Amino acid sequence: TIGQNLRRTVEQYGDREALVVVSQGYRATYRQLWDTTTQVALGLLALGVEKGDRVGIWSPNRYEWVVAQYATARIGAILVNLNPAYRTSELEYALIQSGVSVLLYSRGFRQTDYRAMVEEVRPRCPGLRVTMVLDDDWQLLLSNGKHVSERTLTDREASLQFDDPINIQYTSGTTGFPKGATLSHHNVLNNGFFIGEALRYGPRDRVCIPVPFYHCFGMVIGNLACTSHGATMVIPGEAFDALAVLQTVQAERCTSLYGVPTMFIAELDHPRFGEFDLTSLRTGVMAGSPCPVEVMKQVQSRMNMREVTICYGMTETSPVSTQSALDDPLDKRVSTVGRVHPHLEVKVVDPDTGAVVPRGSPGELCTRGYSVMLGYWENPQATATAVDKAGWMHTGDLATMDEDGYLRIVGRIKDMIIRGGENIYPREVEEFLHTHPGVSEAQVIGVPSKKYGEEVMAWVKTKPGVTLTAEELTKHCTGRISTYKVPRYWKFVDAFPMTVTGKVQKFRMREVSIAELG
Ligand code: ATP
Ligand code: MG
Repeated sequence: TIGQNLRRTVEQYGDREALVVVSQGYRATYRQLWDTTTQVALGLLALGVEKGDRVGIWSPNRYEWVVAQYATARIGAILVNLNPAYRTSELEYALIQSGVSVLLYSRGFRQTDYRAMVEEVRPRCPGLRVTMVLDDDWQLLLSNGKHVSERTLTDREASLQFDDPINIQYTSGTTGFPKGATLSHHNVLNNGFFIGEALRYGPRDRVCIPVPFYHCFGMVIGNLACTSHGATMVIPGEAFDALAVLQTVQAERCTSLYGVPTMFIAELDHPRFGEFDLTSLRTGVMAGSPCPVEVMKQVQSRMNMREVTICYGMTETSPVSTQSALDDPLDKRVSTVGRVHPHLEVKVVDPDTGAVVPRGSPGELCTRGYSVMLGYWENPQATATAVDKAGWMHTGDLATMDEDGYLRIVGRIKDMIIRGGENIYPREVEEFLHTHPGVSEAQVIGVPSKKYGEEVMAWVKTKPGVTLTAEELTKHCTGRISTYKVPRYWKFVDAFPMTVTGKVQKFRMREVSIAELG
């Protein structure tokens, strides 16, 4: 279980730094983290939290989040990760759907007052017994368990099974309403361990984690990969800020850095990028959405991340299924999502027939093994659609596998554009647009067309100080990519509609574009 695993790390590396949260000025060794976790576990037991009860956490990245993650796992409660971007209707949905009885939350995030929102939804959430504000009630929670004997805790710990559910993680909401994936100790702990192995983490590694904890990128690729290897988690701040990341990597001498592609782009494009010493970096992870080859190359050369890797996965698979290895040839590391992780299986199938497609042909990627979720929380129908009887998770992503087993993600099935009978993969057009020196980021969608069914549209964010026109970009494409793939419509933007995990929401881009194009 997660608790046993943390205890083992404490025994081995108790005096080493476990967690640094720069924005809170917080530092803890593994032993200190363990002791605080024990106090909070006892505090939750004093509140009457039983095995299998849902404890919600609604907060941006703070040390209390990490403590709550391990404290709930140690008492067999199910932690419900609530997205910091939620507003009342989403909060209410998640609290009721997952049946949260104890809610830990921060005062607010990005000028939003969480307390007012919690008070508003509370009367409509009958199961919600206790709410505690991290900023105000933390001490109370710590002291609350004083009269509970440690024996109660050890008895509880001894009663846990590795396949008990310990977590409900909501997906990013990139394609619509988030779904709550139920995960066990075994699911996330093993995945975190194998990620740490792939990155060759050890007690000397200091891993900069600017991605949210509420998401598996922060919680598993981040926290669990670190704590299973004695590495240090370094958190720059509550929310992503490119400058804070650069400052933190330098000041904390981080050896590894995480991000979704948009985060790395923001760091590389930051006007003060050149001021920072990033030579401590060795490795890192880019993941979450298609990782442009150009951006990977720059991260590798300009950020000193010689051993940068790409992970591919999804919340429903704990999350990682494939990852490039540190000694893969550079061209494979920048252009593929690597090969299947140990103890897991992948296959690429024709989505209509389910037959495995020939190597090199695109098809739906399916994953099987220990990492596949227990199911969507109280939604057996959605679970049955996603996971077939043989245990394969149907990811909804299109991929190709080459002769050596390296996978390339072509894009989501939902995002594929069909123009006059031709399949167009947005990813391919995006990759091409990133080769234009003035383009910082490009996102491609299909918009309805009477004549062709769909037409290609590109949204483009230019590099600072650069102005581009539709004519210029069209000219850049002409003769270099097939005519039918050249975007018919262009839109220049400063930002894309995004999830808190930093993923571009193409369904929102389509809504805006359709409204604008009329
Ligand atoms: P929702 O399911 O709510 O619409 P989501 O699918 O973005 O949101 P996550 O579970 O956070 O929620 O993300 C998993 C998805 O992210 C994958 O299915 C895939 O489409 C995409 N993804 C993850 N890693 C990569 C990668 N390295 N390259 C391309 N796409 C990736
Ligand atoms: Mg998804």
